[in-house]
Amino acid sequence: MTADVSIRNATKVFGSFRALDDVSLDIAAGEFIVLLGPSGCGKTTLLSILGGFLEPTSGTIAIGGRDMTHVAPAKRPTTTMFQDYALFPHMKLSDNVGFGLRMRGMAKAERDDRALALLDLVGLKASAGKKPHELSGGQRQRVALARALAVDPDVLLLDEPLGALDLKLRRQMQDELKAIQKRVGTTFIHVTHDQEEAMAIADRIVVMNHGHIEDVGAPSDIYMRPRSLFAAGFMGEANFLDARIDGVSGAEVRVETALGQAVLPASAFTAGKPSEGGKATLCIRPEHFRTGGEGGAAISLGSARIVDSAFFGAHLRCHLQPERPPERPSGVAITAHLPQTAKPQAGDLLELAVPADTIVALV
Ligand code: ATP
Repeated sequence: MTADVSIRNATKVFGSFRALDDVSLDIAAGEFIVLLGPSGCGKTTLLSILGGFLEPTSGTIAIGGRDMTHVAPAKRPTTTMFQDYALFPHMKLSDNVGFGLRMRGMAKAERDDRALALLDLVGLKASAGKKPHELSGGQRQRVALARALAVDPDVLLLDEPLGALDLKLRRQMQDELKAIQKRVGTTFIHVTHDQEEAMAIADRIVVMNHGHIEDVGAPSDIYMRPRSLFAAGFMGEANFLDARIDGVSGAEVRVETALGQAVLPASAFTAGKPSEGGKATLCIRPEHFRTGGEGGAAISLGSARIVDSAFFGAHLRCHLQPERPPERPSGVAITAHLPQTAKPQAGDLLELAVPADTIVALV
């Protein structure tokens, strides 16, 4: 089954420390939501409040339209899957998966049928009679997932479930987790600090920092149209260029940066309104730079000289600096990924531009 989740002004204070600060979020039934952020940002606190292991200091939680704020974990339509997903070592897999159903008094035959169906879902039906020690780490992880889904929660809460796996297995499990979630349709709320993992699995990512939400959106939305500097920086590499706003007219905003003057579309401002004489920060991904007029409708940013470059397979990773007299260094360093075909070399002076729909400005 599945349900929507509504978090309203959730705050959690430990002593004088606000681990969660006025968080509101609506999650649709069947969504795969990832809570993403650095260590200590409040992800686990929020997940624990959803699972009922912590009560919020203030604010409310509703699941499927019912207020759950003060309801005990066992009485909620949620199951939590932790990183350390201890399976019972002496039980075969089908009994591990059926354990929660036994606790609920389900008859053995029915329980076994359901356990087998779930082991089938995670690709382990043929191993139903094995014990956990006969499995690999990834397989044990799948059994834990089957066990969590066996009790048919409306919402599955996953706290860094792939954290203990090596990178290759982790990437493989991400794909499987996403496919399984789409098949069962249960709402998944998954915590990680790994931006690539979030991109690989989420319908929507919630970027958190210091107990509050910085940005919410589909992975491509947060990558291409971040609404905060923190979200832009956390979701992959970005160049941040300070800008002064020289003029605002209709759909255009004239700015001056260390590279020179540029005219931005007003739509580049994803958060906050530009005002003449004000400041902004331009956010540009390294792969979005164009040189020498290629790439169609581009915004010209000015010129910069290549300081060094390194081979990265599909592209060259170049560091550039604006051209300045030595007594007035700009202090600005730019990273650009340029195609090999451009044959960029240290010392070259390049005209930098970016396609209009890739530049983001934040005030
Ligand atoms: P991580 O990725 O490291 O698990 P997180 O984003 O999940 O981090 P939380 O576990 O939610 O972070 O913790 C948020 C902050 O609240 C941290 O600074 C943590 O030290 C603090 N905190 C969490 N639980 C308690 C508690 N019971 N008492 C005091 N402080 C706490």
